[in-house]
Amino acid sequence: TGTGKRIMPHADIVQKVHYPKDDGKKENAAFVTLARNKDLWDLVPSIRHIEDRFNRKYHYDWVFLNDEPFDEEFKRVTSALVSGTTKYGLIPEEHWSIPEWINKEKFDQAREKMRSENVIYGDAISYRHMCRYESGFFWRHKLLDDYEWYWRVEPEIQIFCDIDYDVFKFMRENGKKYGFILSLSEYQNTIPTLWDKTKTFMEKYPKHIHKNNLMDFISDDGGRNYNMCHFWSNFEVGSLDFWRSEAYRDYFEYLDKSGGFFYERWGDAPVHSIAAALFLDKDELHFFDGIGYYHPAFTSCPVEESIRVQNKCACDVEKDQTWYTYYFCTRKYFKAKNLSLPPGVEPSP
Ligand code: GDP
Ligand code: MN
Repeated sequence: TGTGKRIMPHADIVQKVHYPKDDGKKENAAFVTLARNKDLWDLVPSIRHIEDRFNRKYHYDWVFLNDEPFDEEFKRVTSALVSGTTKYGLIPEEHWSIPEWINKEKFDQAREKMRSENVIYGDAISYRHMCRYESGFFWRHKLLDDYEWYWRVEPEIQIFCDIDYDVFKFMRENGKKYGFILSLSEYQNTIPTLWDKTKTFMEKYPKHIHKNNLMDFISDDGGRNYNMCHFWSNFEVGSLDFWRSEAYRDYFEYLDKSGGFFYERWGDAPVHSIAAALFLDKDELHFFDGIGYYHPAFTSCPVEESIRVQNKCACDVEKDQTWYTYYFCTRKYFKAKNLSLPPGVEPSP
């Protein structure tokens, strides 16, 4: 179909990517959603958005994962909405339980302390399992063995624009391994020692650090301190082989043994982001523009009017937070990659 006349957002021009031609061949790719049965009606509109804006044309599979069995209603409703094949996986208990090296008392004390300090999800156990699972295990689920690419989808998200190229083919043809839309600062009190652990890891495994990495996105002083910038992982399009790599396995194992997923409340977003910034070539990362995205409570709406019109975006650019919300990190990504800002975006926020 006609991707020829399509104009590109500035971000895609400066990132030097091209849109793939539809050749009727599908990539080895699937959507992946971790959810509980009770998430069904928050998830339904998310699926509708993805289907209406993208997948009704491509029919990619959708893998649903849960730490409990999905019920019949969940399966019936989601399989009716997805235009590709749906698969439903149960998470093995060893991927969703407290490891034997975690000290229960220390864990309870940590949660109590974080609760009293009002740390977001500071007290929660299931949220910790979720973050650890998304960090270290989803890509090991046997239903994902068949795939090379994934797109993570969560309940309550929205896609604002038509996506009329195959995003997975785009990743492969442009040599991309990790794609994001929103990027912002993490709450320091959820990850007090994550950077110290990461620095020790870097000393222990210098071979895993890519020579052309994106350290400047995650650190403002060459790696001494973490600046809290991360890619918001509720949207990710990425290579499963990256998570399966020796570098990432070693990193996850190292972090996991330190206990920080439990004694602190490490999110999968900073863990994924630090790994992508350090172990990948910076050219393998991609900022998706022209798509528009919402997850509570943040919005991306393409800043260029011509793109919003072409892509039939249903969003108000006044609500976009990419360029002017002070705790966002997209500018830092552009700076770290030496990319010029889109037309109309003020040089400083
Ligand atoms: P937030 O976006 O960080 O506020 O966290 P969410 O509540 O959206 O959870 C992140 C993802 O994990 C969503 O896809 C949820 O449906 C899923 N999730 C969260 N907790 C659980 C859980 O205990 N079990 C399962 N199966 N999924 C969960
Ligand atoms: Mn969410």
